[in-house]
Amino acid sequence: MKTYGIAIHGGAGTVSKTSMTKWKAEAYRQALKRAYSVGYLTLHKGGSALEAVTEAILILENSPLFNAGRGAVFTHKGDHEMDAAIMNGKNLKAGAVAGVQSVKNPILLAMAVMKKSRHVLISGEQALEFAREHQLELMPKEYFYDEYRYKQWQKVAAQDTVALDHDEAEGKKFGTVGAVALDKKGNLAAGTSTGGMVNKKYGRIGDSPLVGIGTYANNHSCAISCTGHGEFFIRAVVAHDISSRMLYKGQTLKQATDAVVMETLPKLGGKGGVIAIDKKGHIAMPFNTKGMYRGFKTSHNQEYVGIFEKG
Ligand code: ASP
Repeated sequence: MKTYGIAIHGGAGTVSKTSMTKWKAEAYRQALKRAYSVGYLTLHKGGSALEAVTEAILILENSPLFNAGRGAVFTHKGDHEMDAAIMNGKNLKAGAVAGVQSVKNPILLAMAVMKKSRHVLISGEQALEFAREHQLELMPKEYFYDEYRYKQWQKVAAQDTVALDHDEAEGKKFGTVGAVALDKKGNLAAGTSTGGMVNKKYGRIGDSPLVGIGTYANNHSCAISCTGHGEFFIRAVVAHDISSRMLYKGQTLKQATDAVVMETLPKLGGKGGVIAIDKKGHIAMPFNTKGMYRGFKTSHNQEYVGIFEKG
């Protein structure tokens, strides 16, 4: 039987066991489990990696727990500007959006860019125009309002800094969501969706919508979705570096992801993690933060959901 599987993340950051109630941890675990289970079922039924990735991300975007879609963090101006990307490892086609407001599911907009436009990455007001033209669902500002995130923003804004969505200890955290999958036909796909960094300014765009950095899929190597402090991921060209290490250096998925997440990024001061799956269905999920919301399920009966370093 052909191996297939899916891995997802709901962001990395300083999630300390003490600051997280049992109930909250359970809510996160349930949401992660639901997301990879839905994606896995699609793969099991013969659906494509691209479909599985999209379906898993939709669940996470529709949950207020994660920094994407409904739970997107606040910008400096008190808005929500979302970034997303999707990539098909079979033909290297990709679609991405940056700094979009009001769109309920940015991952669907990224998919529409890939399938229905001549472009790869579109942004801002005009991306919204494209969303309207393609009848994507738009939501009023209140839909994106979350009291926890509002308070988080107020705290970070008072310090005049930017922060990751899940860094609770410092009032910061990364809560980006992403998925990578391998389908029965041996095709890989990756997707990432985020509200970016808390209190971001000046139309800041992170790594998530950048092909080869926060999101990448190539049937010859692997599919990757990143989460962490985007500026460092951009400078380290993370996803493409992982793929290249496998292609040119013959490294395994584990070697390549460990090298970039545990060596390259820390040297620059970059915090975060990645989820990755290779063409044989191996999965790697290294992170250099205290925690990363993550989970996976494969056709080899392997299933896992975790938040902290040890589960
Ligand atoms: N990587 C995202 C960004 O920098 C943030 C995150 O992963 O939560 O926009």
